[in-house]
Amino acid sequence: MYEELFDWNEIKFKLKSVVDKRDFESWIEPLEFDKVMDNNVVILKAPSSFVRYFVSNYFYDTILEMAKSYNPKIEDVEIIFADEIIKNDDRKTPKKQEKQDDNLSILDPKYKFEYFVSSSSNEFALAIAKKIALSENANINPTFIYSGIGLGKTHLMQSIAWEIKEQFPEKKIAYLSSERFANIYIKSLETKTTSAFKETFRSLDLLLIDDFQFMQGKKRTQEEFFHTFNALMDQGKQVVASADKNPMELQGIDEKLASRLQSGVVVNIFPSDFELRKKILEDKISLYKYKKKVPEDVVEFLAHTIVSNIRDLEGALKRILTMSELLDTEITMEIAQNNIRDMLHHQQKMVTVENIQRKVAEYYKIKISDMQSSKRTANLAHARQVAIYLAHKITEHSLPAIGKKFGGRDHTTVLYAIKKIENNKREDSELEKDLMILEQNIKHSY
Ligand code: ADP
Ligand code: MG
Repeated sequence: MYEELFDWNEIKFKLKSVVDKRDFESWIEPLEFDKVMDNNVVILKAPSSFVRYFVSNYFYDTILEMAKSYNPKIEDVEIIFADEIIKNDDRKTPKKQEKQDDNLSILDPKYKFEYFVSSSSNEFALAIAKKIALSENANINPTFIYSGIGLGKTHLMQSIAWEIKEQFPEKKIAYLSSERFANIYIKSLETKTTSAFKETFRSLDLLLIDDFQFMQGKKRTQEEFFHTFNALMDQGKQVVASADKNPMELQGIDEKLASRLQSGVVVNIFPSDFELRKKILEDKISLYKYKKKVPEDVVEFLAHTIVSNIRDLEGALKRILTMSELLDTEITMEIAQNNIRDMLHHQQKMVTVENIQRKVAEYYKIKISDMQSSKRTANLAHARQVAIYLAHKITEHSLPAIGKKFGGRDHTTVLYAIKKIENNKREDSELEKDLMILEQNIKHSY
């Protein structure tokens, strides 16, 4: 996989799990891969200037980050319409030279302490992060930050990196996702450069490893990480990790490693409250210097209604702003309400077993009725087991209740399915990826 410089389908697949479904379908799906130029710049073609405009304003960072995590050699991504190359000043997002990229850390200039809004839900995490960033040798070890999606973990971790770069430029630091750590490690195995890999990581002053849940089931990488971790801890160097759950709740992570990860400080970022959401919106509006004014009632409406996570909140704001810019109208409550109606509708829905069955059936391209049927062909049985596993993981239903929803199967069959998927996913990275994507889709789709 590493000889391929760029695989758009693969990147798209990953984008699908991090971008809102509606956004994915409207903006990412229509993009077409054109070429990778000699200077490692990827060219993507948009079907209209409208799509080009939107994508380069709002998804450029995400696409570039994904592209780089697929292949660190990628320098930049350009989105073009017809043969017209996008001009740099078209972008509101930071230009390339502003991006700090020492090949290990890809940092977003928007993710700094000064842009992080504090409230009771995140003040403890923020205090620890600042302490780590501002002390000569904080040694709050290890620090583990966890929270639901879109509540500011990445923002905080990158803020630490930016601050240290400024305060202590001589310090060696790395910020990267656990997935990228895995990719770099695997690549070092393939190119027989593991000693350089070890040297790089074991000589860091600070390692920030984001989204630790992506280590699930990756045995060999976990082992390597554990060595790196121990080496850093022995030298009194700082390690900060984040994940969507606390270490002991992460499945598919070696027990000893999990227990070491929670042996220091474990902090949770709690869901936001109205005041925080409102303040964040106000901050983002002034940060991005939008041409349109956003009336206060619209800000409050958004802060009241988009409660799930900050990323969605920002997404809703951007959608409304873009619409009004493109249509050249003022922002009103009506525009706001129309734009987020779908989002609201789905937010109020809880995840149900039926929902899971439908998503899984779509994913494996089988009929939803086969979730209840007694047919046992291999692909049907597999899809059904995946759905049972996810129903158990995501909903609160008991085993017999889940069995009932799958055509009256009894609880031992349900348990068998759960165990089977649990075991298989340890060996089968394809399955592990399917499960991750499905879970994201189910939890965050609207
Ligand atoms: P996570 O890593 O927990 O999934 P992120 O750090 O990516 O979440 O945050 C999602 C978005 O919400 C980012 O754009 C981030 O800037 C914003 N955000 C989250 N919390 C805050 C906060 N307290 N202040 C300002 N922006 C925030
Ligand atoms: Mg994150």
